Amino acid sequence: MASKSSIEWTEVTWNPVTGCDKISAGCKYCYAERMAKRLQAMDVEQYSNGFQIALAPKALETPYKWKKPRVVFVNSMSDLFHPKVELAYIQKVFEVMNNTPHVYQILTKRSERLKELSPFLKWTDNIWMGVSVEQEEVSYRILDLLGTSAKVKFLSVEPLIGEVKNLYLSGIDWVIVGGESGPKARPVKKEWIDFVKKECERTDTPFFSSNGVKNYLMLIKMTQLLILNTNFMLKEGVN
Ligand code: SF4
Repeated sequence: MASKSSIEWTEVTWNPVTGCDKISAGCKYCYAERMAKRLQAMDVEQYSNGFQIALAPKALETPYKWKKPRVVFVNSMSDLFHPKVELAYIQKVFEVMNNTPHVYQILTKRSERLKELSPFLKWTDNIWMGVSVEQEEVSYRILDLLGTSAKVKFLSVEPLIGEVKNLYLSGIDWVIVGGESGPKARPVKKEWIDFVKKECERTDTPFFSSNGVKNYLMLIKMTQLLILNTNFMLKEGVN
């Protein structure tokens, strides 16, 4: 339940939960759904019910086995804050993150539940929490994220399928921006991406563009966050 990732802003993916349901327009051509169907056809046990929510408790042991600290994208094949994932299980996932020396990046479209459950979760410095904002209609997710106790907060403005004018960047540590990829990708307008980049530049918010453009602030920010994580691990004596 962990594998090397081709996503540029992470290192490996880790899936203590798989499966999901579509919740907004950004989900239309969900990569995880396509991949889950392929894995089901290959008789992979975890995907025996295709893209339905399935817990993978054995995967909770995996991060303890990694000898070197890694940057880990949590639940690339699901959404940790899906309503079918009970709080008690989310807390178990957090317990693993709290007790291992890796950086964890979590991304959700269920920002309301994230905000609701935030007080019941232990937000250590190594947990970077993000929300997807694919168009203006879901920009409220940023406010939900800002209402959590996550120490590091990021936005995935991707796949951008409409303009996002209400970008609240105060309190946001970094931003990913990009259009849709895949066989049926919906077209992205250059001005939508340019607006996000300009807002990031205006507010000194590091951004990472999925066409490979990183601004220098992003490089500095990533370095700072990784040093912060190392200090946290030394202070807490994690592993
Ligand atoms: S929330 Fe994410 S994983 Fe779930 S259907 Fe939408 S895009 Fe796919």
